[in-house]
Amino acid sequence: MATGSFRALVARKSGNPDDKTQHVSLETVDDSILGEGDVTVRVTHSTVNFKDGLAITGRSPILRRWPMIPGIDFAGVVEQSDSAAFPVGSEVVLNGWGVGESHPGGYAQRARVKSDWLVPLPAGLTAAQAMAIGTAGYTAMLCRMALERHGATPDQGPVLVTGASGGVGSVAVALMAAAGWEVIASTGRPEEAAYLQGLGATTIMNRAELSAPGKPLGKERWAAAIDSVGSHTLANVLASTKYRGAVAACGLAQGMDLPGSVAPFILRNVALLGVDSVMCPAADRREAWTRLAKELDLRKLGDMTSTISLDDVQGAAHDILAGKVRGRLVVEIG
Ligand code: NDP
Repeated sequence: MATGSFRALVARKSGNPDDKTQHVSLETVDDSILGEGDVTVRVTHSTVNFKDGLAITGRSPILRRWPMIPGIDFAGVVEQSDSAAFPVGSEVVLNGWGVGESHPGGYAQRARVKSDWLVPLPAGLTAAQAMAIGTAGYTAMLCRMALERHGATPDQGPVLVTGASGGVGSVAVALMAAAGWEVIASTGRPEEAAYLQGLGATTIMNRAELSAPGKPLGKERWAAAIDSVGSHTLANVLASTKYRGAVAACGLAQGMDLPGSVAPFILRNVALLGVDSVMCPAADRREAWTRLAKELDLRKLGDMTSTISLDDVQGAAHDILAGKVRGRLVVEIG
């Protein structure tokens, strides 16, 4: 039975209603801070996603309750369970469902969650590898699934991946290359060209080509795209998508706005496919994780992954928002 104190990164607000600032620090806490749930997990690994950066720095209102343990995903071992599906000793992965936002999350040695939110650790992956994939990589797979379900195939032309050196982008480059696509990687970090080519990109594009306000329609350049950037970038991506092409949009690294026109939709029959990972139904989640275990080259996953400790998470939160993190960050909870 799980009892006793444990380490956690905790975000708090003072009792003063005028104090809008949150304070985040590593603390020793007990089970009273945990959320409701039928399964308690010994968390071994978590990760730092863009959204975690927004949550920890308070740059966007991601956290909904205080005190809150941030961390939108984790992997670990069940140590207490009222769920027949996940008995004690099961290895599990969790991402989304408001964990690390309104329900205490992954930056702690212990988490209590609803068993419905859990996915079994896919065969062939360690907990560390599952968190190297993390929400970013799982979202990249959801984007690929969205394009495939739309009918996109590599023979239609290249696929563009924006934010390519980031977490979603790096996994998307590797996954699309593995599926036989010619991959154009858009990045603001030309020094990462060799890294991106190592993941499977055939062409490196300077993201400045897409960042500024553009025309309603441009030259048709790609048959499909995975965009984690939003704003002018997404508008320009749509404007240069080939006739009947499709764009899977999952992110807002440049901005939440979409300052474009309907021209790509009504003149080129382009499809804009929204991708959400947080409330994604269990069946799609399981499909995504199972396929990631089978189809993502684990050597490439290793190449895109750095490992940090719980003590480093706050610094990493600032780094990821500054666009300084390459690929994926795994947090060893220890
Ligand atoms: P990362 O920070 O790892 O990657 C984002 C990348 O976007 C950066 O590495 C950079 O790539 C590029 N970028 C950053 N700022 C700008 C800018 N101002 N203009 C153009 N490009 C920029 O974040 P993640 O991969 O974790 O997440 C990416 C996005 O996807 C985030 O907005 C996140 O919130 C969203 N997301 C959404 C999910 C969903 O459920 N819909 C799930 C997971 C993520 P480069 O240096 O190569 O240009």
